[in-house]
Amino acid sequence: MNESSAAGRKNGLIIAIDGPSGAGKSTITKLLAERLGYIHIDTGAMFRAIALSASRNGVEADDDRGLEELCRSTDVVLKRSNGCCMVLLNGEDVSHAIRTPEISALTSKISARKPVRESLLKLQRRMGEQGGVILEGRDIGTVVFPDAEVKFFLSATAEERGRRRYLELAAREQVTLEQTIAAVISRDENDEKREHAPLRCANDAVIIDSTRLSIEEVLESMEKKVRERVSEQQTCFTDGREICGK
Ligand code: C5P
Repeated sequence: MNESSAAGRKNGLIIAIDGPSGAGKSTITKLLAERLGYIHIDTGAMFRAIALSASRNGVEADDDRGLEELCRSTDVVLKRSNGCCMVLLNGEDVSHAIRTPEISALTSKISARKPVRESLLKLQRRMGEQGGVILEGRDIGTVVFPDAEVKFFLSATAEERGRRRYLELAAREQVTLEQTIAAVISRDENDEKREHAPLRCANDAVIIDSTRLSIEEVLESMEKKVRERVSEQQTCFTDGREICGK
């Protein structure tokens, strides 16, 4: 796509996808990024990596000073490998280790702490500022990039989100459907009620309820919206050039 200069960013638009746990953000973001040739930034994976590091280093979830120091000394990198987003913690591949129910629960606590949010906010902005990116998370359209060109808020009922998470987890973890739904609801509550960067739908986000939609249906409606935005921006850009007489 040639929208980058129209958007005023070097590599293209910034697309924000926010929403609660299990709404399908990761699957959709990965596929949409492939279709658009954009980079997928999984910000949840970054919080998870910090939580794993805290757990390994014995830093408590309410120890702000310890968390600040940990963030300063921890290197989190998202690397693309064979179409997958690999998560490196100080060079170690922790892509699977960050996805256990224990680390999910710890991430939910740690992500509410100010030093963790401040540290990852800077990193996320650096990673996305040139555009050509889709960031998925909880506060992308409200806090990280409130000026993102396209924002989506992807949701589904808690039961459906719990069911999807359960299908993902059941193959490798000892969990029940009821436990998984309860964990999803508890993480939603933590994310929505926290003081710093709570989970909120941005006023200008397109809301998609994926409860009864297939992945393909969600993807199509998102891609359509992005392409509309690209052509709007290109029209503005062309008009601007005509007015300037260049
Ligand atoms: O998206 P994922 O479920 O992997 O995110 C893990 C946790 O990280 C969430 O439950 C949430 O507490 C936190 N998170 C966040 N802000 C983001 C992304 C994730 O607080 N932008």
